[in-house]
Amino acid sequence: MKKEEFIFCPLGGSGEIGMNMNLYAYGNQENRKWIIVDIGVTFADDTIPGVDLIYADPGFIVDKKEDLIGLVLTHAHEDHIGAIAHIWPKLLCNIYATPFTSVLIKEKFKEKKIDIEDKLKIVELNGKIQLGPFNIEFVTLTHSILEPNGLSIQTSSGTVLHTGDWKCDPNPLIGEKINEKKLKQIGDQGVLAMICDSTNVFNSGRSGSELDVRNSLLKIMINKQKRIIITSFASNVARMESVFYCAKKIGRQISLVGRSMHRIYKAAKQCGYLNNLTEPVDARKAKNISREKIVYLCTGNQGEPNGAMMRISNGIHPDVFIEPGDTVIFSSKIIPGNEKKLYGLHNLLVKNNIEVISEENEFVHVSGHPNREDLKDMYNWVKPKSIIPVHGEYRHMSEHINFARKMQIPYPVKVENGDMVQLFPGEKPKVFDKAPVGRIYVDGNISVGEESQSIKDRKNLSYNGFLEITIIINNNGSMTKKPIISFRGIPNNDENSNFVSDMEDQIRKICKTFSLNNSNQEYNLIEALKTNCRKIVKEKTGKRPYTNINLVRI
Ligand SMILES: [Zn+2]
Ligand SMILES: [Zn+2]
Repeated sequence: MKKEEFIFCPLGGSGEIGMNMNLYAYGNQENRKWIIVDIGVTFADDTIPGVDLIYADPGFIVDKKEDLIGLVLTHAHEDHIGAIAHIWPKLLCNIYATPFTSVLIKEKFKEKKIDIEDKLKIVELNGKIQLGPFNIEFVTLTHSILEPNGLSIQTSSGTVLHTGDWKCDPNPLIGEKINEKKLKQIGDQGVLAMICDSTNVFNSGRSGSELDVRNSLLKIMINKQKRIIITSFASNVARMESVFYCAKKIGRQISLVGRSMHRIYKAAKQCGYLNNLTEPVDARKAKNISREKIVYLCTGNQGEPNGAMMRISNGIHPDVFIEPGDTVIFSSKIIPGNEKKLYGLHNLLVKNNIEVISEENEFVHVSGHPNREDLKDMYNWVKPKSIIPVHGEYRHMSEHINFARKMQIPYPVKVENGDMVQLFPGEKPKVFDKAPVGRIYVDGNISVGEESQSIKDRKNLSYNGFLEITIIINNNGSMTKKPIISFRGIPNNDENSNFVSDMEDQIRKICKTFSLNNSNQEYNLIEALKTNCRKIVKEKTGKRPYTNINLVRI
């Protein structure tokens, strides 16, 4: 008999905040079953032109899909579900999620024209599922979205608690409170390891409550005379409900602006949340309401170029206007990396005499992740033998290890994407192997690897410009007319404008040294043209353009 092993392996989300994808395996070497927990995306920055989304390379688990018995989702944030419709077609396994998450992933499959009905298994809140050797219990936590779940993953060799994203919110306003009782029960039965959110490990105290934000928003809004525009994360349904609540309290109507705001509102309603609210007014009709009597809640809180907030601020939104004296409340986090575009948006507004309120000058936002006091509570409830920090950059995860040591956790284990951790057997969990990992870029409609030529080409084009030369060769083997030269993105002024005529001369010279109707010489001819023409452009302009040579024989 081979020994049973319990294994954890993150493919994404450990060493970065985003694209969470985690694997658990149980069994011996001949018969080992796998599950995936979460399957998210991360957002690309300007260094990858034309790409918005990135997800973890699923190759390692795709190779084991015969032994893959389910994909379990903790909650509906994009960094946990965003890649599902991209990766699932390679896996074809059952999917397990609570109702609100299920509604949102169904939309993703619908967009890709995939019928997921038979494969999607809806799990009730605090429900249990049995997947092969894994007995999985969903534990309701609190976070910044509806239905955040921790997972107690029990096997015959022990239990791990996979927290997913969470914080301790004593008044989440919508949805249940954190299931402290269940967490304690799980802790009392013994927990091999807790795989835990590290996002806010540098922050002391508690991350705070949605109720406190609501109260603060009301105090701010009550004193505003003109139009109030609030922008927040659409997925934060409690915040959305708070804005409805505050609008009603101050005698204003509310209008939702932006596709994802409507999408989340509908999904929440469909799952039985947001009842007893006054109906929002269609933005097209809200135009007719005086600006003292309306609150807009819109998308684009990070200054996204196409987000509603940016379009409103630029005066190009068809339905929502903004004027001097109005107030914009950014009820959201200023995400590191987004400061530049976000401050650009703040500047634009302030310049136009519009008041900007953000987490920098008022209490208008709380994080959805655990600060140190929240972490302490969870540690005390669950009392794990080992902590494996995830959902963080290296600096967060490393600090989380320090924190766990201070909290007397016997065996904190540092991991990064691809590390295979043996949770059982053994006195303590240890990294014993490495799975292949990588990043996949969603480029247009196509998923490509990090080394993709399409992205390399675009980077090259964006820095260096493009040069194309077409030479027409007649059947006597000589060049007809002038070569056709076209270029894009190469700086051109009077001083260097002769680079085109210099190139024409050079092309003629080179063509004379080759026998043009000898196709064996074609490769060398093209290379010679490419090298020499790029050299001329480099000398004249300082640019080395991406160069394409066409030979046309007539
Ligand atoms: Zn997350
Ligand atoms: Zn989350």
